[in-house]
Amino acid sequence: MRIPPLNGKNCGKIGYRPSMTEELAARRRRTRDPVLSAISELGSATRSDLSRVTGLSRSAVGECVAGLLTDGLLIETIKDGPSGGRGRPATVLSMRSARGVVLGIDLGHAHITAASATSVGEVLAECSGQLDVDHCPERALDLAASLAKRALRRSGHRLDEVLGVAAGIPGPLDIRAHVVSAPTILSDWIDIDPAAELERRLSRPVFVANDADMGAQGERAFGAARGFDDFLYIKASHGIGAGIVLAGRTYRGSTGIAGEIGHTHIPGASNWCRCGSQGCLETVVSISRVSQQLAHVLSISGSVVDANLLPPLAELALNSSAARVLADAGRTIGRVVADLVNCLNPAAIVLGGELGAAGRPFVVGVRESIDRYAQPASAKAAQVVAGQLGARAELLGTISTALRVSTS
Ligand SMILES: [Zn+2]
Repeated sequence: MRIPPLNGKNCGKIGYRPSMTEELAARRRRTRDPVLSAISELGSATRSDLSRVTGLSRSAVGECVAGLLTDGLLIETIKDGPSGGRGRPATVLSMRSARGVVLGIDLGHAHITAASATSVGEVLAECSGQLDVDHCPERALDLAASLAKRALRRSGHRLDEVLGVAAGIPGPLDIRAHVVSAPTILSDWIDIDPAAELERRLSRPVFVANDADMGAQGERAFGAARGFDDFLYIKASHGIGAGIVLAGRTYRGSTGIAGEIGHTHIPGASNWCRCGSQGCLETVVSISRVSQQLAHVLSISGSVVDANLLPPLAELALNSSAARVLADAGRTIGRVVADLVNCLNPAAIVLGGELGAAGRPFVVGVRESIDRYAQPASAKAAQVVAGQLGARAELLGTISTALRVSTS
C-alpha cells in the first residue's frame, strides 16, 4: 500500500536504543511487503499458502497477518470445501475490496478536514475549512458533512459507495451514551451525539472517537507507531491529550475519557485553565502558550515578534534561544508522561501535534524527563520519537479507523 504523503519531516529517534520491541517492529515491517504482494498475486490465500510462497515461517506470517487484519487491510473468510477434518474451518485471506471508498473527518479546535480514501487507505481527495469548532457544534457538524461530501465528489464517488466513515473530535466522548459529556471540556458540545448527527447529515454509519485516539491510530497504521502494540501518542497542540494503545487496542477507560493529561496539575503553575481548574499542563505548554514564550525570547534578541506569525517550529528550533524554550516545553510534558511510563510500561512515546513536529529539542526534552522521573527499567523500554505524519496524523487515523469499521 502507499504510505500517505507527509506534511512534516520526522526529526528522527532521539536517545535511540535498540530493543527487543524495536527489532520486532522492524521484522514486522519487513514481512508486510512480501505478504501483501503474495495476496495481491494470488487473489486469496491461506496462511500456509503465504508461508510457502514468501518463504517466511508460519509464525512470521501469522504475526504479520494479525497486524494487517487489525489495520483493516485484509479480510478473512471461511474457505469453501472440506476443512481438512480437524473440526476448525480453514480460512482464506484477501485484500479488502478495491471498490468503494471510506471517509475520514478530523475536527480540531479551529479546523475541520475531510478526506476520501481508497479501501486500502490511499487518500484520493482532501478538503479543509476553518471554524471555531469548540463553540459552534451545529455549524461544525454541518461543515464536516459538507467537506466530506465535497471530498467525495472530487474523488468521483457517491455516498452509496462509501464503505465506512470515521471522525475524530477534540474532546472526550462518553462511550456508553455516545455523547460529549465532560462538562469542563468542549462544554458547548455537552449531550450532543456527534456520530448520530453526522449519520443524519451523511446517511451513512459514522464511528466517532477522541482526536488523540485517532492520532494514535494514524501513526500506528501509516507512521512512527507501526509495529507497536503498546504505545502512547501525545497530541501536543492547543490542547494536550494522550491516545493510549495497550496490547494492540485503544484504551479509553471506563467511560471514554482516558488520556486527558492536559489537565494534570503542574506544581507551581497557577494560571486558570479552560476546565475551571488552575495550573493544568495545558496552561503551561499549549501551543499558544509556547508561541508566546517563543515570541518573547525572539523579541529580546531582535525586533518585536508576533506570536501569531511565527515561522514553523522546526525552523525556529535552529535558533538557540527558541530551542531552549522548546526543550523546556518537552521537559514539562515529559514530567507528566513519565508517570504514565511508570504505570503502563509502553514501548514507545510518539509525539504529535504542532509541538511534536518541532523537532529535536522538544523530543530531547521529553526524553530527559522520562529518564529523570520514570523508573529506569520502564524508561529504558520506552523509545521517544517524533510522529511521522505531523498535522495529518488525526485525519489519517480516521481513515484507518473507517477501514476497520467499514461494512465490506
Ligand atoms: Zn485544565
